[in-house]
Amino acid sequence: MRDAAPKTIYLADYTPYPWTVESVDLHFTLAPNATRVRSVIRFAPNPNASAEDAMFLHGEKLKLISAAIDGAPVTPDLSDEGLQVAVPSGAFTFEAEVEIDPANNTALEGLYMSNGMYCTQCEAEGFRKITFYPDRPDVMSVFTVTVEGPHPVLLSNGNPVLTQNHLAKWHDPWPKPAYLFALVAGDLVAHSDTFTTMSGRHVDLNLYVRPGDEGKCAFGMQALKASMKWDEEVYGREYDLDLFNIVAVDDFNMGAMENKGLNIFNSSAVLASPETSTDMNFERIEAIIAHEYFHNWTGNRITCRDWFQLCLKEGLTVYRDSQFTSDMRSAPVKRISDVIDLRGRQFAEDQGPLAHPVRPESFQEINNFYTATVYEKGAEVIGMLKTLVGDEAYYQALDLYFERHDGDAATIEDWLKVFEDTTGRNLTQFKRWYAQAGTPRVTLEENFELDTLTLTFTQHTPPSAATPDPQPQVIPIAVGLIYPDGTEALETRVLEMTKAEQSFRFTGLEDEPVASVLRGFSAPVVLTQNLSDTDRAHLLANDTDTFNRWEQGRTLARGSLLSMIRTGAAPDAKYLAGIHAVVTDTSLDPATRALMLGLPSQSDLATTLHDAGETPDPAAIYAASETMREALADTFSSDAAGLYAANTVTAPYDPGAEQAGKRSLSNAMLSLITRRDGGAAAQAQYDAADNMTQQLSALANLIRAGKGTASLTAFYDQWKDDRLVMDKWFGLQVMEAAPEDAAATAEALTRHPDFNHKNPNRFRAVFGALVMHHAGFHHASGAAYTLLADWLITLDPLNPQTTARMCSAFQTWKRYDAHRQRMILAQVDRILATPNLSRDTTEMLTRIRGA
Ligand code: ZN
Repeated sequence: MRDAAPKTIYLADYTPYPWTVESVDLHFTLAPNATRVRSVIRFAPNPNASAEDAMFLHGEKLKLISAAIDGAPVTPDLSDEGLQVAVPSGAFTFEAEVEIDPANNTALEGLYMSNGMYCTQCEAEGFRKITFYPDRPDVMSVFTVTVEGPHPVLLSNGNPVLTQNHLAKWHDPWPKPAYLFALVAGDLVAHSDTFTTMSGRHVDLNLYVRPGDEGKCAFGMQALKASMKWDEEVYGREYDLDLFNIVAVDDFNMGAMENKGLNIFNSSAVLASPETSTDMNFERIEAIIAHEYFHNWTGNRITCRDWFQLCLKEGLTVYRDSQFTSDMRSAPVKRISDVIDLRGRQFAEDQGPLAHPVRPESFQEINNFYTATVYEKGAEVIGMLKTLVGDEAYYQALDLYFERHDGDAATIEDWLKVFEDTTGRNLTQFKRWYAQAGTPRVTLEENFELDTLTLTFTQHTPPSAATPDPQPQVIPIAVGLIYPDGTEALETRVLEMTKAEQSFRFTGLEDEPVASVLRGFSAPVVLTQNLSDTDRAHLLANDTDTFNRWEQGRTLARGSLLSMIRTGAAPDAKYLAGIHAVVTDTSLDPATRALMLGLPSQSDLATTLHDAGETPDPAAIYAASETMREALADTFSSDAAGLYAANTVTAPYDPGAEQAGKRSLSNAMLSLITRRDGGAAAQAQYDAADNMTQQLSALANLIRAGKGTASLTAFYDQWKDDRLVMDKWFGLQVMEAAPEDAAATAEALTRHPDFNHKNPNRFRAVFGALVMHHAGFHHASGAAYTLLADWLITLDPLNPQTTARMCSAFQTWKRYDAHRQRMILAQVDRILATPNLSRDTTEMLTRIRGA
């Protein structure tokens, strides 16, 4: 274990920084192992803080060459965390020169190198690895940056003020915290375009990529322009610089980063072409480009006072990008996909040892809090707020937010206040969504008498270490009523639940309706509604809310799978018939029909069993899921070929929702067909494929049918020079492996010459797939636990962030039997016993293990 006790930081301890920073001048002289950074920083006393005579500046792994205050050399006290120096009482200038080693920066935080290019990642606390600075988001300043280096492209934030051979000077007029600083230098090519804003400002747009990737830029550029236009039309937000640059980088810990005027992207989150990217890749890229662009207002112009407020920018920006995707594509399809993702990742987090509030109150390593809870539950909270106040008040409140807080480092209190001031509502109770961890359980009792339906809800949030005594929350419950003949008895109405138990009455009904509850998933809760299978099938067939139709199909599937697991029952005929009816209903769009065919994930089923006080057996869950897929193959045996053909796209490839929806339905059919034809249709699709969606889906089916060997080799030969496609090749083999082979397949792939654990995309391709393979990861041999632990131990000293993130694979250990628990904990303890384990990984595993 680490020798130094890890330090915990508390929201309650916040104090303003004693100084403001009026301006920052940085001068970089780039060299792989010895980059020099000269800084000139103008400090003035902060009128809102008490004065101090010694100043602390963050700084990590910096070699201090010289320092001066107002021109006079000083010798600061240095520690692992920064420097301390005596300062005069008024305003002063601090100057320093430091040396850093970007070529050996494998953590990919601060200034580092990727394929010979320099780039930066500063959020959350990476700037302190570049120079000495008050590296906290409430210290905002105007940056001027000079970059000297032998590269054709030298970039930083803002607008260019000087470009010479091997030197470029940049000025960003917008005050910003250091986490939004960025620098890029390399041999890059630009895909350029322009955008004219609503007030007529001309903006140059560039997407910088490595030579060879030029052909993968067009879609990202279109997505950027669509995002810029959308934010003007929907939120009235205009871009504010003459230039907007995006750079694609192969080695990146996350998806992308919203640095002011210079977004840096994981190449997987921006590069796209029909031949190399799937429909899902296109949709994700469009969403991430929008997300980072939207941060320009929700994140950059208005930033966070401290890192506890991370959801202020992330929850809101995820909410905004989901609105954008809903407008660009299909709103119900987007909602269903988001709920699948929320349940898969956020619910698992909220119901396990890593549970934390959307606004946490303490942390050791902030990088560990870029979580599904902060992002996705944070977005759900915004959605609930909008549902409660209505669309009009929502946009009024947002206008006030931008007006009141532009240029501020703000808090959740500021955010809620604009809603209170706009609507006159008291949001004190609503604020619990930010303060309490855990997923509320909502139970519904229904009673019908004469012409009146009474819905009685109770809510209960299981206590957690983070929130030992949860209080009732404000839960918007969207409800509609459907009569037995399928007509609508009541259009969607939002019930506002605030108490632990609460009843709502609907009178004047002609007949007993079926209640369609939590439409559109109006709150991130677990709902228990004791509907009969017949009523569920009725909603699946007749609900006017697409989300709830899907939800009822899903609930029927879950119920049937649980009976199969518990009692060996056969697949439920009502479910199969209901799904058959919706999937063959051509009045529904193909994407929705494809989603209807999906089953709850095996991990979801494990959670449900655990919740019911049972011990999930991953092998039994796997077997039941396979049996259900076989039953679906039988159910569709006479339609599958027809549906496959009817939804096969013959027009030239287009990544838009319409074609993508058809491909998702035809590929869902292909997987049913493959269970009956031994892979003949998949092979034909593979041979004919002219886009990655079709090629990859065919390959997956061939592997599943045991016929993948030749195509895997052909695929490798075709794509071995394309890094992003090779990530798919690595991942797919693990995903499609039989449970007993998953760990061995992953292990063999780590010995492949193209495996490189220092590249986060490649590492995640193999291990992300292994962790997602429920029956493979939790195979009784324990081989996957050991393999993952081996590699986490190897990666931790190189890249703590990616290591710590992958540790969440172990967060569900308490669900399983004593033998698996022991095996997992043995690996967790083995990692924890590694000398010099990073703060990131130590915190994650300590929290997972529990007290
Ligand atoms: Zn973000």
